[in-house]
Amino acid sequence: MTVIFSGIQPTGRKHLGNHIGAIVQYVEGQDRGDPAIYCIVDLHAITVEYDPAVLRERVLDTAAILIAAGLDPDRCIFFRQADVEEHTELCWLLASVTSVGELNRMHQFRDKSVAQRQLVSAGLLFYPVLQAADVLAYRAGEVPVGEDQREHLELMRDIARRFNERFGEILVVPEHRIPVVGARVRDLQVPERKMSTTGGSEQGTVYVLDEPDAIRRKFRRAVTDSGTDIVRAPDKPGVSNLIEIYAAVRGVDPAAIEQELVGSGYGQLKAVVGDAVAEWLTPVRERYAELRGDEAALEGQLAAGAEKARAIASGVVADVRDAMGVGPARGSVGGGA
Ligand code: ATP
Ligand code: MG
Repeated sequence: MTVIFSGIQPTGRKHLGNHIGAIVQYVEGQDRGDPAIYCIVDLHAITVEYDPAVLRERVLDTAAILIAAGLDPDRCIFFRQADVEEHTELCWLLASVTSVGELNRMHQFRDKSVAQRQLVSAGLLFYPVLQAADVLAYRAGEVPVGEDQREHLELMRDIARRFNERFGEILVVPEHRIPVVGARVRDLQVPERKMSTTGGSEQGTVYVLDEPDAIRRKFRRAVTDSGTDIVRAPDKPGVSNLIEIYAAVRGVDPAAIEQELVGSGYGQLKAVVGDAVAEWLTPVRERYAELRGDEAALEGQLAAGAEKARAIASGVVADVRDAMGVGPARGSVGGGA
């Protein structure tokens, strides 16, 4: 049994890529992890332009979506990042073993800084250090995330290794866990790009909370490729994407989908995938509406989760402080745990 950790940004508009690449993995991991820890990362969300009042709402939206999708706060540790101050403290401590050159080379930093109209914040550059702190604060061994986070995972592993070389074996070097199918769900209109919260096309992005008709319509209009064969291929990003989404929804191998649909046309493919996704997400949307109405219950669940999280993170951060010689020696008057 291993500690599982993953974080997700607070937006009310979780899309099918988040659902398949992350949320479904979280639900699957909650009985495997010892414990499984999932965090809504409001501190990451403030690295780009945002509205403070809206951010609070989005945290609750996201909490309700995850619980609606099957996350059970009693079977995992589910909390809001900013409620556990150890994350920000560890971020600063780890900054001392992180190179600016590496941060500056991260693709997400490059992409998102170009998109900023007003200010490219230092927070955006520091995003991967905070992300490393999120995971390392729990000595997590496994991090379920989509393909787009591979680079940040590698950096976090480097940070943990460098810390351990310099200060002793304190931190666990985590493993990346990318789903076999659906690690990179693509935009239905621009299948060369990943489906994305911030960078995607409106018609090409299927939201978990979309009405079934909207979902079917988006799939009907999905961009496919020239040709007629329903097979995955590098020059068929649109068709490959539809096959992979269908496989993820059905929980089968994409090769089985290819076999099943031999002789069908692209129109049929889009229709069956659209129907399957609409049906798959309907119970999540319905349950969401019930849960989102009770904000006090959601806040209560997040607060209880934060308490459980803090119980673990505070011990790890105390070890890190101690190894780094920061603050008073452990056991001295006024010292830590
Ligand atoms: P942004 O585009 O602003 O970075 P996002 O859509 O990537 O937002 P996040 O909250 O950053 O949303 O991602 C949450 C999780 O979903 C991460 O584990 C990420 O790897 C995964 N994920 C995001 N997009 C996809 C996708 N298109 N396919 C599969 N997994 C994805
Ligand atoms: Mg992302």
